[in-house]
Amino acid sequence: MNARFTCEDVARAALGEPVKREGAELLYRCPLPEQHNNGDAHPSLKINTTKNVWSCFPCNAKGTAWALAARVSEASARLVARMNLEMDMIMLPVVRWCWC
Ligand SMILES: [Zn+2]
Repeated sequence: MNARFTCEDVARAALGEPVKREGAELLYRCPLPEQHNNGDAHPSLKINTTKNVWSCFPCNAKGTAWALAARVSEASARLVARMNLEMDMIMLPVVRWCWC
């Protein structure tokens, strides 16, 4: 398979520089750290640049660059949802004040 973009491309675009590099493996903090202790302080997301695959053992997740892109976009969708929630909490007192 001749991939148009690699797991490394996705990770670098979405997550920045790898936390660590071990030979052909790049280590990142998991974009979905709910399943990890301490927000995945010890990076679990491994990318094998030779095979162009990735895996996160605690999440029981692995796959291609496409799967990684889907995972990262799920993480950013969750972040946006959380930001909206916080926005509501900030705006709520203002709205109440207006309705008084
Ligand atoms: Zn994970």
